[in-house]
Amino acid sequence: EAVIDIKGVTKTYVNGKLQVPVLHGIDLQIFEGEFTSIMGPSGSGKSTFMNILGCLDRPTDGFYRLSGEEVANLDDDQLAFVRNKKIGFVFQSFNLLSKLTAQENVALPMVYGGVDKVTRMERAAKLLTDLGLGDRIDHLPAELSGGQRQRVAIARALANDPSIIMADEPTGNLDSKSTLEVMNIFLNLYKEGRTIILVTHEPEIATYASRNVVLKDGLILEDKPNLNMAKIE
Ligand code: ADP
Ligand code: ADP
Repeated sequence: EAVIDIKGVTKTYVNGKLQVPVLHGIDLQIFEGEFTSIMGPSGSGKSTFMNILGCLDRPTDGFYRLSGEEVANLDDDQLAFVRNKKIGFVFQSFNLLSKLTAQENVALPMVYGGVDKVTRMERAAKLLTDLGLGDRIDHLPAELSGGQRQRVAIARALANDPSIIMADEPTGNLDSKSTLEVMNIFLNLYKEGRTIILVTHEPEIATYASRNVVLKDGLILEDKPNLNMAKIE
């Protein structure tokens, strides 16, 4: 069964009397362990689609089954619950809390997961150590480089051990060395069997994915396996 099973998804924004149709009926199935890139020009609907995929927003119409559960019509609280349990997010601008240490940032999602404090802090330290930041756990985000911050954000995305990782332009603010480090981490997560969805506008970044989806004008224009998938360096 598909982890993500989307059928006929549309999205129309309503601003007063103005209706802005953005997604026009998307069908997409993503299977466990796939590493899917979503590309497309600015305005093609990538952010809108990611918000729906990530249970941050609901489609106007259509079906969305996430690991077997229909989520298209859940209310905000139910969506938040599903999101926290099943999905880890990585953003272009890291979105770390500036007054919390790396360890505290990584521990935070576990608060909502109901994990006790000792376990939270231990697990956060372990996740950071696994990503090469064992000597940085007490640092504030401002004391870390961009690449280190993004690794903290990836550790945070893994805090509740989600089966799906969604990343929106995760290397958009990184230099080429940090980009390589971060993409190697995604390749390792792929090897572990996690399902990864990566939005990017850079063709070079899409080469890391096992499957390449292209959106255009709110529809899937192209969807094909990547036979030249990048390898861990
Ligand atoms: P992308 O991420 O590919 O740039 P978006 O999903 O951000 O695409 O936007 C697709 C289109 O939807 C754009 O034309 C944008 O202006 C419009 N749009 C996005 N959000 C809203 C909104 N809240 N209200 C009205 N129009 C929106
Ligand atoms: P991105 O850089 O991720 O593509 P956008 O610039 O498309 O982001 O959108 C940024 C925010 O503004 C989003 O929350 C989106 O919903 C909102 N937005 C985009 N276009 C419009 C619009 N035409 N009307 C209202 N809100 C919009």
